[in-house]
This record gives sequence, C-alpha cells and structure tokens, in this order.
Amino acid sequence: MLRSTARRQSDSARRYLDFSSLTPALDAAAQLTAVALGFPISMINIADSDSQYTLAQHGFPSSAGSVIPRAHTICAHTVDAGRIVAVEDAGTPGSSALPDDTVRAMIMDAGLVAYLGIPIVGREGMVIGTLCVFDTEPHPVTEAHEHLLTLLAGSVQEQLSAHRDRSYSPLDSASAAEFDAAISDGDIRPWYQPIVDLDSGRVVAVEALVRWNHPTRGLLTPDKFLDRIEASELIIDLDLAVLTQGLHDLLTWLPSESSLRLHVNLSGVHFAHHDCVDRLITTVHDAGCDPKSVVLEITESVSFAANPSNIRFVAELRDAGFGIVLDDLGAGWSGLERLLEFRLSGFKVDRAVTGRLGTRAGDAIIRSLHLLATDLKLDFTVEGVETAEQARAVAALSSARGQGYWWSRPVAAVDIPNLLSIDVSPAVAQSTEHDAIGASANLSIRNAAASPP
Ligand code: C2E
Ligand code: CA
Ligand code: CA
Repeated sequence: MLRSTARRQSDSARRYLDFSSLTPALDAAAQLTAVALGFPISMINIADSDSQYTLAQHGFPSSAGSVIPRAHTICAHTVDAGRIVAVEDAGTPGSSALPDDTVRAMIMDAGLVAYLGIPIVGREGMVIGTLCVFDTEPHPVTEAHEHLLTLLAGSVQEQLSAHRDRSYSPLDSASAAEFDAAISDGDIRPWYQPIVDLDSGRVVAVEALVRWNHPTRGLLTPDKFLDRIEASELIIDLDLAVLTQGLHDLLTWLPSESSLRLHVNLSGVHFAHHDCVDRLITTVHDAGCDPKSVVLEITESVSFAANPSNIRFVAELRDAGFGIVLDDLGAGWSGLERLLEFRLSGFKVDRAVTGRLGTRAGDAIIRSLHLLATDLKLDFTVEGVETAEQARAVAALSSARGQGYWWSRPVAAVDIPNLLSIDVSPAVAQSTEHDAIGASANLSIRNAAASPP
C-alpha cells in the first residue's frame, strides 16, 4: 500500500526476470508479433526501476538477453505512459505522439527509425515491460496494427505469467536433497528477535526467524533461500523445524511456566493441506508445550486468500489455543479485509509504515491502525522500529508492542536470556540519545555484529 507506484512496478517486474529458464515459446511470440505486424524487429522487454532486460527478440540478435540502463530506452517511455506509443518516423520531428527529441534520438542512435510499443501488465496489475516492434525505415501505424498488438500483448502476458510460475517452482532434486539434509542435520535453525510490550517495558515474546547455517556459504538469511523453498512443499518442513526448535529453546530459557510467547512465521502453503491444523497441534504437544505459547504469523499471499476453507483453518487454530497475527500490514497486499474475515488475535504493522513515522501521513496511518486494533480488541505490534523517535511514537500508543533493531536485531538462542530481565520503557520515555536503551540496559545484542550477514 505504501510503496510508491514506481517501486511497486519495479518489484513486480523483477518477479518476471529469470534468464536461466527462457522458453523458446517466448521467442516464438516475439517472432509472431513481428511477422503479424509487418515489422522486421520485435522485442519483449521487462523494465525495473534501473534497467531494461530483453527476454526475447526477433530480428535484432544483439539485443537477446541484453540489460541496458532504463534511462537509455524508448520502452521506458511506454512503461511510464501506460499506453501504446507509436513513432512512425524518428527522423521527422512531430511524427510521433512523443514530441520529446531525446526519444527520437534514442531510436535513431540504435540505427532504427520506427517504433510501436505496448505496455505488458503483470500479475500485480502493474506495468512490467513492453512488447514492441521496430523498423529501420519509416513505418505508418494504423488502428489495425494497434489492435493486433493489443491481442498479442495479452498472450505474451499469459506466457510470462506461466514462465514466472515455472521459474519459481520446484527445487531441482539435488537442491531439495541438500535442503532436506540441512533440516535433518540441524543446520536450519531459528534466530530470535524480541517483541517488547511498551506499557510494561518487558520482552513479552520472541519471533523465530529462520537461518541456514550453510557448510560453505556461511549463515544465510531467508532472502538467500526462502523464495525457492516457499515454492515447494519443503516450506512445510522448514516451518515445522523452526517451530520445534523454537519450542525447545523456549523451554530452555524458561523451564518454569511463563507468559513468554513464541512467534513463528507460517507459510500459506500449510493451508492447502487438510491436516495442517492437526500437524501443528501435534508438533506443539510433542515438544511438551501448549498452543497458547505460540503465535502463528501469517503473511499476504495468494494461498492465504480469505476463502471459507482458510477461514475455517484459522478458526480451528484459534480454538486450539494458538494466537494468529496478520504480518506486514501496510505492505504489499496484506489487506485490511483479512482483519475482518479471519478470527485473528492481532496484527503487525509493517516497517514500511514505521519508516514514515514523523510524517503527517505516517502518523495518521499508525493512529488509525491503532484505533482499529483497540476497537477490534487485537494485539497491536509495530515492526521495524529503528530509532528513539519511532520507539517513543509507538510507546505513546496504549497497549502497543514494538519490534525492531532499536531494541535488538535477531540473535541466536543463547543471547535471549539476557534480554528477558530488562526493562526498556524508562529509556524510551527519557532518551534522546540513539544509544540510550542499549546503554541503560547494557544490551550488547544491539551491536550489529550480533546480526548475521
Ligand atoms: P518478517 O516475518 O516480516 O520478519 C521481519 C524481518 O525484518 C526479519 O528479516 C528481521 O530481521 C527484519 N527486521 C527486524 N527489525 C528490523 C528493523 O528494525 N529494520 C529492518 N530494516 N529490518 C528489521 P529476516 O529474518 O531476513 O526475515 C525475512 C522474512 O522471511 C520474514 O519477514 C518472514 O516473512 C520470512 N521468514 C523468516 N523466517 C521464516 C520461517 O521460519 N518460516 C517462514 N515461512 N517464513 C520465514
Ligand atoms: Ca513475521
Ligand atoms: Ca513482518
């Protein structure tokens, strides 16, 4: 919600970039476009905020697989315009809908004269690139050309969507086996980040965040491997391994009964399985714990749509005692409607919103979300708190919880006991110094060195 349109466009476009699995079908679509429109050259390009990537081409072999700065491309204008752009004769000023001389000069510099391009729209509804044709001679553009190009762009969009599914889908068997072994060998482990109750100043929960202690690549954060795992059923094993280890650590920190809760992230893939609720309950019982100690964090994803079956699963998990929070509210498409459809126990405000605290819009959004949480009696946690100002702004809201680098980066299990006895609230109230909390509480864990690469 809060990413700018350009950023969302760029993020969406990047999901279509996988040069390793380009399909001949996409080249055929480019060729078909050129032939059908009677232009000698065609291209399928993806444009993110910095670059243009040519996924497929016909008649211009030097462009195949090329990556050029976005600023040097004619197609960036088509992406920005969000509609068909035609330049019939770049050699003649005024011959195109784009009077900008730099655009005409760009076409001429590439040894081309005519251009016709249409935006391609991705699954997130953003323009992600173009389907375009070029000629080395002036080329009149008719309505029939535009109509045909529109039809062909629709088919290219479908192909790209299928291509994206394939490029994110199953791990090859060697990677799957390596990952499987990593789980069995205990190389997949959670690190933990505290969640602080800002009324009491106590750490009331920790979020388990997966790390892969890779034999050759070192300690890997989720951005290095999670996407590929998440496209396969192995994500279920990963989540259960993190839950099991998390509960084991919880009991080590606090052998006696305690109100400290363990948050774990739950992929939407679980909900595709009818036995997902039983499996989670069994995992918790086998670890000698109660589901009341566990909060499952669920994020926006296609597989977590508010359909009757998912709504039932969440209700069953709540009945079993689990807390359920909606993660990343305010980012991507973690929608407000899910707050109403699911029987949640709380939600977490994404750090994109936190980063805007101190601006009128950011403060207003936090206030409204806090009001919503209060009215709906939901736990309210603000993530990504990095500064004293942000910590104070969150602490000013009643019953709010905070999580972020300001208090602690994710740390290994062994560092958690240090945190549990610390009261952070006075420092939040009084400090103007960035380091006040760390200094008063002597939290060596706030040191960046505690964080994995
Ligand atoms: P998330 O659930 O939103 O977790 C918060 C992420 O933000 C973590 O990144 C954390 O290290 C980072 N973070 C925390 N405080 C701050 C801050 O103040 N500033 C900034 N810039 N970042 C902060 P991490 O550990 O890399 O995890 C990334 C994502 O991977 C998680 O986002 C979650 O969606 C996913 N993930 C992590 N562990 C698991 C898991 O066990 N299972 C599943 N299914 N997903 C997981
Ligand atoms: Ca989370
Ligand atoms: Ca989050």
